[in-house]
Amino acid sequence: MKNLDDKDGPDQPDKRFETIIGLETHVELSTQTKMFCGCRLSFGEKPNSNTCPVCLGHPGSLPVVNKKAVEYAMKIALALNCRINKRTIFHRKNYFYPDMSKNYQISQHDLPIGIGGYVEINMGSHTRRIGITRVHMEEDAGKLVHSGATGRISGADYSIGDFNRAGTPLIEIVTEPEIKSPLEAKQYMITLRNILLYLGVSDCNMEEGSLRCDANVSVRLKDSDRLGTRTEIKNLNSFKFIQKALEYEASRHISLINSGKKVIKQTRHYDDKTQSTKVLRSKEEAHDYRYFPDPDLVPIDIDDCWIKKIKDSIPELPNQKEKRYKDKFGLSDYDSSLLSGDFEISDYFEKTLETYNANPKGICNWLMGDFSAFLNKDQISIKESRIKPEHLARLVRLIDEGKISSNTAKSVFKEMYAKGSDPDDIIKEKGLEQISDKGELEAIVEEAVKNNPDAVSQYKAGKVKAIGFIVGQVMQKTKGKANPALVNEIIIKKIS
Ligand SMILES: [Zn+2]
Repeated sequence: MKNLDDKDGPDQPDKRFETIIGLETHVELSTQTKMFCGCRLSFGEKPNSNTCPVCLGHPGSLPVVNKKAVEYAMKIALALNCRINKRTIFHRKNYFYPDMSKNYQISQHDLPIGIGGYVEINMGSHTRRIGITRVHMEEDAGKLVHSGATGRISGADYSIGDFNRAGTPLIEIVTEPEIKSPLEAKQYMITLRNILLYLGVSDCNMEEGSLRCDANVSVRLKDSDRLGTRTEIKNLNSFKFIQKALEYEASRHISLINSGKKVIKQTRHYDDKTQSTKVLRSKEEAHDYRYFPDPDLVPIDIDDCWIKKIKDSIPELPNQKEKRYKDKFGLSDYDSSLLSGDFEISDYFEKTLETYNANPKGICNWLMGDFSAFLNKDQISIKESRIKPEHLARLVRLIDEGKISSNTAKSVFKEMYAKGSDPDDIIKEKGLEQISDKGELEAIVEEAVKNNPDAVSQYKAGKVKAIGFIVGQVMQKTKGKANPALVNEIIIKKIS
């Protein structure tokens, strides 16, 4: 019998089906210490150097809740429009965890900190509201390092445990199963990451695993109201993988159904090398975890006063920022949404405005145009670029004041990007300052007019465009440094 299970799906998505996706996103909080002990949190340290009896799960050790982590959790829940449960408790989730030495995870079950919120995502032509089922607190596991050729557990000679990450405060954000396409799922993750960065509760570094998600996928015929059997894809840690994995998985389900087979409920992982999903294990049901309230941790009672205090500490969020950019700077919907849709870029934009605020649109154009193109080409973020916000501000100001032409500005920008230098220094060093001295230009124009009688008579005969030729001659003579508007003005005065 042919096994369709791991085979590629059809190239074209089958239009009779629709995809239903629910996402569970894990966010590692950037608190100073762990969720239930005082161990320091920092990435990339010597294995097992940040551990203690609590996070190693030694018998008799007692956990104490990190207040900052609870406040960050509330901040996230409120920013995602959730209600806060006035009494929230911790449960033990029991399972065999090779990377968690106490063999249960402290998590939340039926009384999570936040419930019933939503996130609005911008799909270009329309906005979609994705329901948030719950936001809950838990702790992260440690890491197993598999020693062997591939670094995976299969084929490894031995595995060693590093518990530095064990006990890191982790927030799980669960959506309703109402995301309708892999593209929507990706957009949801981009939007969520942006909100979390605005809140300042996590570095959201996907490569280091600070932000990762599990996706539940099912497909059904469009006229059906029953959800199909779902599979879960674990640990997706890049926007690209999220979309690709979901596209693959949805088409795999459709292939199975179309060939009369059943989708089996299971947990899978996405392999970027083969661009396909592979079985990890068949899915456990929630009751297999034998959740029970953690007897070592008392319930947390949250009063209105505390909620208000946290609410007041929430900074301006992306949608509010978008509105401010439109109202205050007169930017278009498109510009405002692009700028506010990326925390690092909007942060950079505002830092630039601190030095020069007369032309927000001009600054925005650089950010969205040449700057983005250069960053994309090098695959780096704006934070990693060498150009300082005050130097970009200076560049825009130099153009606005007519000190350099926009063409010259492009070459100055290139130099700024490569070396991180001050635009004034580049202009001085290369003698690029625009000639706006009337007397100096008049002499050059005089000569150009004398040398091009044909263009002059064409202009006089009504062919206005002929003047462009003379402007071109002046620009050539001045190596592009003449102020074109001024040159135009002088020529017209001279020949009419
Ligand atoms: Zn510890």
